[in-house]
Amino acid sequence: MTSLARLLIPILFAAATSCSATSSKEAPDPDERSAGISEADSAENRCASTFQRRINALLRDARLELDNFQTSYAKVLRGELDANKVDILPFCAMNTAEFTELRKYHNFSAISGNTATRFQKLRAGDDDMMNEIHGAFAGFQWGNRLFVSTSQSANGFLETVAHEVTHYLREAHLGDYKDPQVICIEESEAYRAEILLRRPKVTARESADIHAKLRRYFDLSKLRPDSCDYL
Ligand SMILES: [Zn+2]
Repeated sequence: MTSLARLLIPILFAAATSCSATSSKEAPDPDERSAGISEADSAENRCASTFQRRINALLRDARLELDNFQTSYAKVLRGELDANKVDILPFCAMNTAEFTELRKYHNFSAISGNTATRFQKLRAGDDDMMNEIHGAFAGFQWGNRLFVSTSQSANGFLETVAHEVTHYLREAHLGDYKDPQVICIEESEAYRAEILLRRPKVTARESADIHAKLRRYFDLSKLRPDSCDYL
């Protein structure tokens, strides 16, 4: 399984849903225990009280905003959020497998310690760790668990949710993300969704901008510059 990040360069994913509330209270898995998390409960409480609470507030606003949009994609997104099939979570709610996937996209050497202690800091909602992640990722999809940066404007948050929900709906996480064409197609669709929230069509100029942006984030040198076709 691969994961999909909404990357930000120069930096690089509610109404409290029952899903997310449950997720933040999951018991630590054996790997987490072996990582030495002796105060997992209090750490998760901080993650929930600080970061999940922020996400819930952003999600409430996002739902209201979606109701103002008349596009078909806004309705799709609202429906997905209401169906509670996806969990919108802060990065500190990641489990070990998800953090392992995240580390494929970012070097965490700026955070002191080894992988286990960095994971512990993540689960504790450590400020340095969360700032590092929010500086690198706007969002990150792993199956139906969508991790979203809380360091975004309301607009940025809504666009990131649209981006990551698109990955979820397309089951992009099942694709081969080593294939540049897969990356190009899935990321193009996700970035187009950010626009289609508000307007029924993506302009040719916006489409060209998306392709240019993707080429800054990913190695798509084997593809034509203006499409996802191979050269
Ligand atoms: Zn993406």
